[in-house]
Amino acid sequence: MGGRNIILDAGTGLQALDKTIDATGSVDLLFSHTHLDHIMGFPHFKALFSPAFSCHIRAGHLGAGQSIEQVVANFMQPPYFPMPVTMFNAGLQYTDFAAGEAFPLGDDVIVQTIAINHTNGATGYRLRYGDKSVCYLTDIEHEGAFYRDGWPDPALTDFVKGSDVLIYDCSYTDDEYSKRKGRGHSSWQAGMQLADAGQVGTFAIFHHDPAHDDDFMDDIAGQAVAVRPGTIVARDGLVLAL
Ligand SMILES: [Zn+2]
Ligand SMILES: [Zn+2]
Repeated sequence: MGGRNIILDAGTGLQALDKTIDATGSVDLLFSHTHLDHIMGFPHFKALFSPAFSCHIRAGHLGAGQSIEQVVANFMQPPYFPMPVTMFNAGLQYTDFAAGEAFPLGDDVIVQTIAINHTNGATGYRLRYGDKSVCYLTDIEHEGAFYRDGWPDPALTDFVKGSDVLIYDCSYTDDEYSKRKGRGHSSWQAGMQLADAGQVGTFAIFHHDPAHDDDFMDDIAGQAVAVRPGTIVARDGLVLAL
């Protein structure tokens, strides 16, 4: 976006990026939070071995006394991982912020953030470039005391208002969610309510439950498109042009 490579979270999909990324360039890595499924790809990101590469890592979910630099260092040590983060030759920069703050990336991209309802906290992002914007809300649970004013939450609706794409935590169907309350995740139906309230362009179903096989996902896709035409189910290698 705006000529920059912006990475949202570092799951295993990060390895696919190694095929196309310029290992002499730079990236901005924004963490929603640091549960394992969002950070486990980081130690395997080969571009980080390039001394000509640089990576600016930011996170907004950590509490007082914690830093994203320390979290990454703690994660990359035995018995979780054999090598320390100092094995990388790339320039690594770390910035902690408080979810709710906004900051620029370069001259043209504005990053807005919001705290979202998840176990141990998480940060939602809205990336703006010119009149285009993408929202990324995962991992998030739509029910509970966090959203006292009900769902769709007014502040969150305002946050996503008019964005071109909303990438949302659709771990469950509504039916599954009713049996999995309190686990920190949401349903595609709840996400779609938010997308409709915020008059979002494309709703993207994301953060699939590993128990959902391709047939199950095809079924969700069919139902979702019937309710909200243009809805997409995110998959490996998907490219969206704004
Ligand atoms: Zn999580
Ligand atoms: Zn997750």
